[in-house]
Amino acid sequence: MEIDRRLTKASNLAVIEDQELGFGNVFSDHMLVRDWTDGGWGRAMITPREPISVEPSALGIHYGQSVFEGLKAYRGTQDGVIRLFRPNRNAARLEASSTRLCIPTLPAEEFIECIRQLVATDSAWVPNEREHALYIRPMVFASEGHLSVRPAHRYKLVITTAPVAPYFSSQSRALRLKAENRFTRAAPGGTGSAKTSGNYAPTLWPMVSAAKEGFDQILWLDAQEHTFAEEAGQMNIFFRIGDEVVTPELSGTILPGVTRESALRLLKDWGIKAATRRISMEELTEASEDGSLLEIFGAGTAAVIASVASISYLGKEISAAPHSGRSLAERLREELLGIQYGERPDPHNWIQVVG
Ligand SMILES: *Cc1c(COP(=O)(O)O)cnc(C)c1O
Repeated sequence: MEIDRRLTKASNLAVIEDQELGFGNVFSDHMLVRDWTDGGWGRAMITPREPISVEPSALGIHYGQSVFEGLKAYRGTQDGVIRLFRPNRNAARLEASSTRLCIPTLPAEEFIECIRQLVATDSAWVPNEREHALYIRPMVFASEGHLSVRPAHRYKLVITTAPVAPYFSSQSRALRLKAENRFTRAAPGGTGSAKTSGNYAPTLWPMVSAAKEGFDQILWLDAQEHTFAEEAGQMNIFFRIGDEVVTPELSGTILPGVTRESALRLLKDWGIKAATRRISMEELTEASEDGSLLEIFGAGTAAVIASVASISYLGKEISAAPHSGRSLAERLREELLGIQYGERPDPHNWIQVVG
């Protein structure tokens, strides 16, 4: 696959030296754009990062016909080699999200090649520090201007990258979640399992309210009864109850996370019982009361594995029992980071090196 290149004459790389790196406040020099018209994808172009012109009636903006992805490029702590983690899973998910939204799909190998070449172009932007990474944000949106609610005839793929620091700057402190019993993120038959733009804006109002009450994130519950745990903000949620780890099953309302899938695989490798099933707030309340709720943690590319201290549900606190020694969350986090930063073996061939 050939990709055209127009490179910047003035790199912005120096700005990350005098700017505190957050999560998405700094962007790298280049981006990749590719248009879809007349039934096919045009040539991909790597260009300096710059504003793109958008048709004012673009269907993607008006009606949310838009999907995105999120993955990272990691620089090996020992060898300096740049690695991608399971980009084929992001390619497959982009395809599933696109199909749900009537957006033309991008062949997986082309998706990965676009990412490889963009990351290679901005390889100097992949941070050296462990737990820092180059976040990669591909998106495809309907660019055709029209007023009808119908699949568009034109689309644009845009991939941008951003050097990022750890998502939760203070993971010295476990998170406090609020189980949201009024608003919902996704309903059966809806788009909860697609990474589509329309799923996120409706979470802002509940998120802002929860933050005002002092919570870090929302634990979303099922839309019908508000009794089953679904996911925590932009992370999948895990519970360690007794000698078993459980996470909600993929029912169509939950985003199928690559981190979730990888964590389940690692638990299986380690001989730890892991189940995917419905988990009621009643079960969690009881496990919290009888001390069998040992751990709660979230899993996602941005935060990797993030420990959760408690969930507030209808005014009551569901807390993980205090434990001594190394948590499973920590073990999973270290294993994933170890593989991503090239420090540990990669028995499942999850890594793709960017040459
Ligand atoms: C992206 C995302 C996740 C995490 O998926 P990963 O592939 O592990 O990064 C979980 N939940 C939601 C709602 C998301 O958008």
